[in-house]
Amino acid sequence: MKGKRFKTKKKFGQHLLVAPSIIEKIVDLMDVSEEDIIVEVGPGTGQLTEEILKRSPKAVYAIEIDPETYPILEERLSGYGNFHLIKGDFLEVDLYKIADGRKIKVVGNLPYNVASLILVNMPFYLEVLKLCVFMLQKEVAEKLIAVPGTKQYTFMSVFLQTYFDIEYSMSVPARFFKPPPKVTSAVVRMKPKNSIPSFDIKGYKNFVSMLFANRRKMLRNKIDENILKKAGIKPESRAEELSVKDFIRLYSEYLAGEHKSDNQNN
Ligand code: SAH
Repeated sequence: MKGKRFKTKKKFGQHLLVAPSIIEKIVDLMDVSEEDIIVEVGPGTGQLTEEILKRSPKAVYAIEIDPETYPILEERLSGYGNFHLIKGDFLEVDLYKIADGRKIKVVGNLPYNVASLILVNMPFYLEVLKLCVFMLQKEVAEKLIAVPGTKQYTFMSVFLQTYFDIEYSMSVPARFFKPPPKVTSAVVRMKPKNSIPSFDIKGYKNFVSMLFANRRKMLRNKIDENILKKAGIKPESRAEELSVKDFIRLYSEYLAGEHKSDNQNN
């Protein structure tokens, strides 16, 4: 088979999943149904893609950046009429276009060099997302489920937990990949929350990121004390001590404060 001739490349973060049992578990976590539109990030040589296709979803759109995988994917998966290969960079693809008014499930054994960027983009697609199942570095997965007051609790924790219910599904040792990565991996399952704040996501992202910069600094050095007090947050506290709910409340107060000063200026 052509797949055998494929040489993995570091620059694309290629670590192929070679254990059928892990591949099956990932696809189990996706609860594939016949109505599902599935987007896969980085199909590589298509092991995960094929297992998804075997479960007969309505369509699979696999987005792959490495041209050397295209003939392998086409040969391996051309028998599936519901398979669509998108040749390009996932970060440049507009998922709203693929979704075309439908909801999608996004899956991927993510290239670790761009995993964080991909994750941080997900809240912007909330309206069309049904579910995400991602293989990540264990360290990143731990951030996604981290609670306040821990070292793992970062910007990523707060930003993603604001929009998703996140479940750490399993750890995956390096030996299940070819070539094995230097770190342990983990699979997470992210479901859009039922109720999410209505403020603009980009502004909130910048706000959370600003509060986590120099994370040991007290919040009163970063944001107006009156706003902190209105949100019921001690001015001496630090970003890492606030819950996700605190962040949401604080940003709402911050926006309200901003509009007030707008009015005063007018
Ligand atoms: N899904 C395969 C391969 C995972 S490795 C498996 O599990 O075996 C990560 C894959 O993502 C590689 O195929 C790599 O070429 C691809 N990739 C890396 N950066 C990408 C990007 N920006 N957009 C799309 N695919 C990317």
